[in-house]
Amino acid sequence: MIRKMITRVFGRKTPAGPGEPAVIGVGKHGIHRDDISNGSRRTVETLQQQGYKAYVVGGAVRDLLAGLTPKDYDVATNATPEQVRHCFRRSRIIGRRFQIVHVSMGSEIIEVTTFRGHHGEVGSHAGNKAHTDDQGRVLRDNVFGSEKDDAARRDFTVNALYFDPTSETIIDYHHGLADLKQKTLRMIGDPKTRYREDPVRMLRAVRLAAKLGLTIDPEASRPIREMSELIENVPPSRLFDEMLKLLTSGYAVKCVQQLRAEGLHHGLLPLLDVILDQPLGERFVMLALESTDRRVRDGKPISPGFLFATLLWNEVLTKWDAIKASGERPIPALFLAMDGVLDVQAEKLAITRRIVGDIKDIWALQPRFEQRSGKRPYGVLEQPRFRAGYDFLLLRADSGEVESELGQWWTDFMNRDGDARAAMLLPPKPDEAKKRRRRRKPVAVTEE
Ligand code: ATP
Ligand code: MG
Repeated sequence: MIRKMITRVFGRKTPAGPGEPAVIGVGKHGIHRDDISNGSRRTVETLQQQGYKAYVVGGAVRDLLAGLTPKDYDVATNATPEQVRHCFRRSRIIGRRFQIVHVSMGSEIIEVTTFRGHHGEVGSHAGNKAHTDDQGRVLRDNVFGSEKDDAARRDFTVNALYFDPTSETIIDYHHGLADLKQKTLRMIGDPKTRYREDPVRMLRAVRLAAKLGLTIDPEASRPIREMSELIENVPPSRLFDEMLKLLTSGYAVKCVQQLRAEGLHHGLLPLLDVILDQPLGERFVMLALESTDRRVRDGKPISPGFLFATLLWNEVLTKWDAIKASGERPIPALFLAMDGVLDVQAEKLAITRRIVGDIKDIWALQPRFEQRSGKRPYGVLEQPRFRAGYDFLLLRADSGEVESELGQWWTDFMNRDGDARAAMLLPPKPDEAKKRRRRRKPVAVTEE
């Protein structure tokens, strides 16, 4: 009954008057209710059956329209988080910056958000200033609002499209559909204000433009260069989440190139400074990003630890050399270099502890691959992170940092067994024993 009514109300096309959204029928946009995931459809239908408004919104609608498979589904509703929770047995309220509800549907998790309102433009309303920091960054935005408010506080017009699976219509408040057709990423509202409210939007602009093949509207791209330093005010954990999204989007190479083109890589993320300003490291990093992009697009899992290990490796090499040159023995020097590099990163980019562990394991294996005599190679094979360390070694070989023969040796060693494997072992280096003795006197070490 309610469904029928909603279909009647939204099924027709309404021309958009001033401030009124366009209601676009399926004939024009081509998205059918079967195109969205089962879970998101059932979530919307359940909410609607309970008398609430509900839509699939944001990235999923945008991606479907662009012919991409959505990564996940977000639902927007006028039901409060408590009300949403009561509609679904398998649901829980998650509260960080604002409360959302995670609804489990089979193996899917649908993120359900209550329509949010504005807190107004920065400085436009005396009472709102309390919610922003000195630079205008919004610290709290958990005010509920109308559907229209909710559309206005989204970042880009292509992200403010609301799909109703029941009527198969799209509600479009900001001409997002037209922008998508014209391949333009346009900010809702004044770009400078929106970047000030949330500097992460600059990174989102780059990521979404790269992923969808859109051009950032000049109005939105122009201020980025001068405002890029605002990213320094963003909490490190949020920056890490966004960087991870960017690097695992399947379009990392394009994103990184675009970040450079927008002048966004300087001074804001040490990680990106590192990547883009080391010509020697560039080949290695680009190979790593290309391989990550391929894996993501093939639907294969990728390891964030591996990714960050590659991005920071050149930095480690430089530091390692410097520490060895000051007389430290190679292995302790490597560990000092690793900690040094990760400490610098931690100030701005909160790499999670588990990922830091993975990164260190991968790096620490690298000098062990050089040892190809005696029992040591067998021990390396047994390491829990051997596979990641080996893939990392192959990347180093591909980029020309180490001999390709070393990578091949490990490929063969891994694939053989018994006598064939043993026959591969190299004789111990004649000066090995001498070298070990010399290593005890740090100042005497000149090379390894
Ligand atoms: P993807 O899922 O591909 O990362 P997305 O656009 O869906 O892209 P989410 O982080 O899932 O990104 O956000 C869902 C929606 O919430 C967005 O489409 C947008 O409408 C809104 N949104 C997300 N982040 C912001 C932001 N920083 N400012 C304003 N709106 C945002
Ligand atoms: Mg999303």
